[in-house]
Amino acid sequence: MYPELVQNDNFCYTGDTTSALLDEENTQLLKSYLAQWASSCNVPQATTDYLLNILRKFGHDLLKTARSLQQTRRHVDLKHISSMGYHYLGIAAELKNALRCYSEEILQTTNELHLSLNIDGLPLFKSSRVTLWPVLGSIINLEPEIVFPIALTCGSSKPQDLKFLEETVGELKILMQNGLLIGEKPYSIILSCIVCDAPAKSMAKAIKNHTGYSSCDRCVIRSKSLHRRMTFADSTALPLRTDSSFREQTDPDHHRGYSPFCELRADMVNLFMVDYMHCVCLGVMKRLLLRWIRGEKTTTKHVPFKRPSLSAHQVQIISERLLALKTHLPKIFARKPRSLVEVDRWKATELRQFLLYTGKIVLSGILREDLYEHFLTLNVAICILVSKHETEQLAEFAHKLLTSFVKKCSELDGEMFPVYNVHMLMHLSKDAIVFGGLDKCFAFRFENYMQHILKHVRSGKNPLSQNVKRHKESVTIPFVNDKQSLKNLTSERPNNAYVLENGDLCEILEIPVDSVAPELKCRVFTSKFPLFQSPCTSNLIGAYTTSFHVATIKRIPSSLLASRAILLELGNSKIVFLSIAHEFFY
Ligand SMILES: [Zn+2]
Repeated sequence: MYPELVQNDNFCYTGDTTSALLDEENTQLLKSYLAQWASSCNVPQATTDYLLNILRKFGHDLLKTARSLQQTRRHVDLKHISSMGYHYLGIAAELKNALRCYSEEILQTTNELHLSLNIDGLPLFKSSRVTLWPVLGSIINLEPEIVFPIALTCGSSKPQDLKFLEETVGELKILMQNGLLIGEKPYSIILSCIVCDAPAKSMAKAIKNHTGYSSCDRCVIRSKSLHRRMTFADSTALPLRTDSSFREQTDPDHHRGYSPFCELRADMVNLFMVDYMHCVCLGVMKRLLLRWIRGEKTTTKHVPFKRPSLSAHQVQIISERLLALKTHLPKIFARKPRSLVEVDRWKATELRQFLLYTGKIVLSGILREDLYEHFLTLNVAICILVSKHETEQLAEFAHKLLTSFVKKCSELDGEMFPVYNVHMLMHLSKDAIVFGGLDKCFAFRFENYMQHILKHVRSGKNPLSQNVKRHKESVTIPFVNDKQSLKNLTSERPNNAYVLENGDLCEILEIPVDSVAPELKCRVFTSKFPLFQSPCTSNLIGAYTTSFHVATIKRIPSSLLASRAILLELGNSKIVFLSIAHEFFY
């Protein structure tokens, strides 16, 4: 409860100069800002009501309630589809709203809208099975990146059939045929990819899930059951599935039914990409960590099938190293490293951080040498494939590294290790080439929006209706994902390390105040050495060692900064420099 406002005559609006300043245009602007603030900060209606009351007392001609200000709907039309509550928002309507946040210049030079779709389940409460199944969309050929909902489905189980996708597919079919007219401007609509985790993909494609024998949706490999786990031993040079073989269902073991997406003119095999957030970060990287810490247990006997590779003492040292890195990671990393004791609760972004950056530092000298090199093989391959530029140059090499990684898994980590996610690494580089890097098309962008949706649910009463209402209130501010930016330069560690366009490493020491395009005072490290030499030189992924002894102070134009970096001091004036490869920070 909020306290009632007390009338104070000293501060009460008197009706003189303030009213002159607040013309009609400004009042409308204020209403718009307030509505945006209430929506984007997820402000409770009682708080907004309280603020409106104060502003009205100071003479602002505002509505009395948050409900009126945000034009909250009293009633939302919900249908019952696939045994769940369902509301369709529409692709064209959401695209029109999303396009309003791009500049006129971008819109005039854009003729095609490339869409990425996401289907996933989001448990809403810890204490119940109520799950939201949103169909989300994103325009992937424009920046900034905007995510929007297309359909919202909610119930206490997963959808019983695929009818909840029919309206989305139906509208997509029309838009892909006829395009979309916004004002006078026509846009072609192209469905570039659909991003899902393995269970959602098997549902949307109506194929066997990842525990089936013919579950790979890219090739015809047959897995085998080992201690009740499906493993993929033979992973190389297998015939690939094609769009026609999928539509004709030439491999009956692969299919469970008919996918509504077959209605579209799209490649049913390559349309559903291998998502590296689920497959690599939450899949392979987490599995490697657990394998090293806990060993591999059979499901039939409670004894380790493979012993842990790390002792409790080694795990403790790695955890201490991780915690010591906390203060060395730039603030663009929203999550700082946590101890391995908490590994079960690590989020996908933390696993990505370990895979791309911190893992190679904290495991060095502790993890057995052959296992460390095996991890580096995966590290280098993914560092290449997340970067658009490196993918263009080195995708084939990354594929060779991934092939080598998968082949060695059985030998190093046991024959139970190569499960579905490990096998899918064989198909990862192809998607990176098609989309210009794994960062271009992946579930991280949608995962971020899912957390945004979660905040919309304020109580257990009709969560679907709450979500629709909150979304309708926020249509004036589309959901924008942050991308790494070179703006906001600072001379303070740990946010001042950069790689220059000529490949030199530097840290900013001083930024002149009175200059539009400043020459930065920098410590430049012109001599650098690879952090490791095997499985290849780490120069390929921008991982170096250097020293304060080889640094010189220079004035550098800010335009020469190419990418952000992590600078780690190892003592004795030794430094490790890691280029930041990925673009999106969630
Ligand atoms: Zn395959």
